[in-house]
Amino acid sequence: MKKTLTYLAISTLVVTSILPVSQHVSAEGVGSLNQKINELKEEKSDISQQKNSITNKANETAEKIEKNKEKQEEVTSEINQIDNQLEVTQNKVAAKETEIAATESEIKKTETEIKDTEEDIVALKEEIKKVKERIEEREELLKNRLRAIQKSGGDLSYFEVLMGASSFGDFINRATAVNKIMDQDKEIMESQKKDKESLESNQKELEDKQASLEANREGLVSKKASLETQKQELSNLQASLNQQLSSKQSLKSELKEEEQHLEEYKISMEEERRVLANQQAIIDKAIQDAKKEKERVEQLAKEQSSANNGTSTTPSTSTGGSSSFIRPTSGYISSHFGSRSLGYHYGLDFAAGAGTPIYAVADGVVTRSEYSSSYGNVVYIYHASLNKTTVYAHMVSRPSVSYGQSVSQGTQIGGVGNTGNSFGNHLHFEVHNGGWSYHGGINPLPFLP
Ligand SMILES: [Zn+2]
Repeated sequence: MKKTLTYLAISTLVVTSILPVSQHVSAEGVGSLNQKINELKEEKSDISQQKNSITNKANETAEKIEKNKEKQEEVTSEINQIDNQLEVTQNKVAAKETEIAATESEIKKTETEIKDTEEDIVALKEEIKKVKERIEEREELLKNRLRAIQKSGGDLSYFEVLMGASSFGDFINRATAVNKIMDQDKEIMESQKKDKESLESNQKELEDKQASLEANREGLVSKKASLETQKQELSNLQASLNQQLSSKQSLKSELKEEEQHLEEYKISMEEERRVLANQQAIIDKAIQDAKKEKERVEQLAKEQSSANNGTSTTPSTSTGGSSSFIRPTSGYISSHFGSRSLGYHYGLDFAAGAGTPIYAVADGVVTRSEYSSSYGNVVYIYHASLNKTTVYAHMVSRPSVSYGQSVSQGTQIGGVGNTGNSFGNHLHFEVHNGGWSYHGGINPLPFLP
């Protein structure tokens, strides 16, 4: 019975639920048809309102998504800016480190020079001391010689030299020799004094050099300290930029997550809207069919009244059709409707083996038959006479009914499975007032036998 949504399907569905099976026509039949048409019109207007509200929600969601994306772009450009700042700062820190290292090696070099100079000064002082001692020795020697010449009778070495002359010529020679010795002594002393002066001036130079090296070292040390401070400031900036970056990045991932939720919500709104549009089309057909049926009944009544005033049998007052459901499958109820640890459960779960038959719980028209990532292989059936939609999810394979097809109560529509967001073979069964709506399921239990 693969009939697409046809005149006959709807006409059967609507009319059988209103008209008792009777060949006799009565005013009551027309009245109930009028009533049914009005009810269908009301349903249609309800659905229009629902559709409008969903359209508004979808539009609001689309706006939210737009704003979310704008914000994501903003945050991304902020992240890029911070990244650039970080790179610049990292380069600056590296440059400071290089400068500090260069300054440190200059300080070491200067300290080595200072040490060398100090050693030079010590050596010079030692030399100066020795020269001084030699000068003193010479002076002492010279004084002794002079004393020998000036005095007679004491230490007579020079005198003896002179007196021991054999002739005047010899005396002159000896006197000249004595003078020469004395002159040489004086010269040696003079040159020693000059040496001493030169060494002292060297020492002065070295001491000046040392003082200037010390000053240089002081300058380098304070330069290094200021570089360290600058480096510390840059490191602080770097740390604060890293913190900003990580907070922006977590904001970005929050926004991304929000966007995904909004997209999911938007898709569910679109789905809901599609289901409502299908339902509206079904009701439109039903109204048309009911109107045609009414015309036919009225025509029949005219013909009958003109033919004879025959007795009319009382029509059955039964409303016909099923007012309650049959069980959609065998198996036991493994999860009831309502809140549970995994969040609110909008349906009823029947645990059963894979392939266990699933049946339409009442007469209706298939408004959805396909695969969805959450429901898996799923069928929606709209029961116009009850204005309810039933959902059969996680079917083992593609359903055996298709969109637009009319089904009778008890028709097998598929088998129990574990497709979509499911953990174990089960039928997830939902009941909705009117069309399917996102998280709009009501407790199916009261409708089941
Ligand atoms: Zn479930």
